[in-house]
Amino acid sequence: MKLLNGKKGVIFGVANSYSIAWAVAQMFHQHGARLAFNFATERLEKNVKKLTESLDGSITLPCDVSDDEAIKRFFEQLDQHGFEELDFLIHSVAYAQREDLGRSFSQTSREGFRVAHDISAYSLTAVVQAAGDRLKKQSSVVTMSYLGAERVVPNYNVMGVAKSALESSVRYLAAELGDRQIRINAISAGPVNTLSARGISEFLDLQKHFAERAPMKRNVTLEEIAGATLFLCSDFSTGISGEVLHVDNGFHIMAM
Ligand code: NAD
Repeated sequence: MKLLNGKKGVIFGVANSYSIAWAVAQMFHQHGARLAFNFATERLEKNVKKLTESLDGSITLPCDVSDDEAIKRFFEQLDQHGFEELDFLIHSVAYAQREDLGRSFSQTSREGFRVAHDISAYSLTAVVQAAGDRLKKQSSVVTMSYLGAERVVPNYNVMGVAKSALESSVRYLAAELGDRQIRINAISAGPVNTLSARGISEFLDLQKHFAERAPMKRNVTLEEIAGATLFLCSDFSTGISGEVLHVDNGFHIMAM
């Protein structure tokens, strides 16, 4: 059964074949969706397009989510390619300066704090704002978060604080968009080895610890994160909004 037959939407955050957004894109394509993608910088354009152009009917355009004009242009250009109405919007974007992920949290710079929050948290509101009425009745918005929003995870630092702001934004946006029957949720994913993840000091140790402590005694897969995202964009989740869904093999329930 194809869960997204005839649906159209935007996926922000494909950088390469290891990206969570790419796993989501492949699954959404298999389920009949037509997809629009962004690439964040010119440097990424060729590689991103090489992946996304393999999915028929897709379109890939530049969009740096820290630039309001670029976001506006992105949606205006999408209108010309048949994306004037959207059934879903996936926000799978984050960034923090490497030095802020490597030093003690108390040493975070004002600029490092600003950049992490701008790109990793505010950008969700920015893209929802710019999408505006393109988001149809019963459309679904999903963003990617991590347990560092709720608990202290060594080396996650300013990104944890930004993820808290992201999860709070999900609740405020859900409260506001609900009367248009638009739902917005976050997935709190267990650690997967992606480009962004490799920016976190000692990430491989974190993944090892995770697999030892999670009730299911293994790491989560990209397909499991994509599957949960598919559910949140399918007609089986129309009653769910403002939620943070943990896709982490149960790791978050453990104390010791
Ligand atoms: P990734 O590096 O593949 O994806 C991050 C994306 O953010 C990239 O496509 C990058 O181009 C984009 N980005 C950064 N700055 C941008 C900007 N200014 N404008 C537009 N795009 C920009 O890594 P990923 O792990 O797939 O990360 C996707 C999301 O999942 C992030 O929000 C991340 O925090 C979250 N997440 C990741 C993990 C993990 O362990 N990998 C766990 C939980 C949550």
